Amino acid sequence: MSFIYDFWDDFISLLFPRLCYACGNHLMRNEYLICTECFVVIPRTNYHCEAKNPVAQLFWGRCIIEKAAAFSYYNKGSRIRNLIHGLKYKGIKEIGYELGRIYGISLEESGFTKDIDLIIPVPLHPSKKRVRGFNQSETISMGIADAARLPVDLKSLIRKKLSPTQTNRSRYERWTNVENIFQVLDNKLIKGKHVLLVDDVITTGSTIESCANELLKIEGVKVSVVALAFAVI
Ligand SMILES: [Zn+2]
Repeated sequence: MSFIYDFWDDFISLLFPRLCYACGNHLMRNEYLICTECFVVIPRTNYHCEAKNPVAQLFWGRCIIEKAAAFSYYNKGSRIRNLIHGLKYKGIKEIGYELGRIYGISLEESGFTKDIDLIIPVPLHPSKKRVRGFNQSETISMGIADAARLPVDLKSLIRKKLSPTQTNRSRYERWTNVENIFQVLDNKLIKGKHVLLVDDVITTGSTIESCANELLKIEGVKVSVVALAFAVI
């Protein structure tokens, strides 16, 4: 029976090959979304094990961020970039969840998430979410949440303004572009809590800074940050 199943499985993958979203090579039967080689060679920053890391330093003098980290580096042609492209522009939500889950295991094991109360994904504007069909930061958050056994809050923080794309903007332009675009709708769930903000890519940190500033207006709130990738510019 298993022989017939395997034969059928091979036949289907011949017609519809499953490819690794990071390198484009064929996936083996036991691989899911990412091949084993990519899983091994994607460079980890390990910033979650180092308090004074480059992502944390990005926010120094800008807003009070307790801890900050990123899973990998976002470089041109990098495998993580291909994965994030698959997530955001090809609509493969599962990539976000899977990478979030993989990262969440490391975050949990290292004690990074020990004092975190809840996760908030960086919100998308409702119209953008409608077009894309989902918020990529939400899927990443779900993976981290499952691995680290934390709740995800999708209701308290909203993006009230649709900001033009941040690509090709200077740090100052990026900041004025996202200043005051977020709003806390209800502070019941987050008052006095340590919030972990989750984004897909951190570049200048302007979006996170804007979110954090909004959250930090609430009594007793502490903010930490993680992203799937850190773009060194
Ligand atoms: Zn691969």
